[in-house]
Amino acid sequence: MTWSSQKITEGLHVFDLRKTFVSPAGQRIEVLRGLSLSVQPGESVAIMGASGSGKSTLLHLLGGLDETDHGSIRIGQCEIGSLSATQSAYLRQSDIAFVFQFHYLLGDLTAVENVAMPLLIRRLNRREALDRAEVLLADVGLEDRANHPVTHLSGGEQQRVAVARALVTEPQLILADEPTGNLDAAISDDIARTLVNYTRRHSGMAVVATHNRDLAHRCDRILNLQEGRLHESIHELEQRSAHTRHLGKRP
Ligand code: ADP
Ligand code: MG
Repeated sequence: MTWSSQKITEGLHVFDLRKTFVSPAGQRIEVLRGLSLSVQPGESVAIMGASGSGKSTLLHLLGGLDETDHGSIRIGQCEIGSLSATQSAYLRQSDIAFVFQFHYLLGDLTAVENVAMPLLIRRLNRREALDRAEVLLADVGLEDRANHPVTHLSGGEQQRVAVARALVTEPQLILADEPTGNLDAAISDDIARTLVNYTRRHSGMAVVATHNRDLAHRCDRILNLQEGRLHESIHELEQRSAHTRHLGKRP
């Protein structure tokens, strides 16, 4: 099955997604209760919501890391739930990138080697892989750290390496779970800009779970996950209507 032909024109479409966990004590936790979401190519969407509201659960389902109880997740024309384990793994490898708060870099390797790793795993020629990795490192402002072992880099620098590594394969869908964690504002902003610019330039899609308002506001849309469903953010509506008034149009 090929995915590349579906790039650009098809988005991510989620309909009536449900997920319930059962606690060790036998209690049912209805995390997602009929959640729907559409993301267009080139668009980044921030998902905000209280801790425990189901943001990570949603990202895991979108990436095929866990199974839905009910509902549909379509990327392009591909229905995630109907894929075999092999197809799902292939989709994750070829078109989906994850950015987590904890970045799992390979400590023995340099920054550029870490970023090149997904390409080397795909058996790309080493020189070409390293060249592409350097371009990505420059995008996140780390060109002068390329040949440092990642263990010598600060937490913020390591997270930027992780973002560069996620983007080096030009994924169609980026799933970022609290990607800026406890990083300071300037670094968070760098990471946010890199993710949002990437989605625009490559007609990718980003779904970013975050508590960070600045990061969320860099995204094209902000949705709140509450009681198992997504709601348009009041903040965003206020911002939009202020913007419309500024332009002298009727809201
Ligand atoms: P968030 O990322 O918004 O903080 P999560 O998606 O991690 O929220 O968790 C949502 C709820 O689902 C929480 O109550 C959490 O305890 C529960 N949960 C998540 N994963 C599991 C699991 N594998 N088994 C049981 N409960 C889970
Ligand atoms: Mg979470």
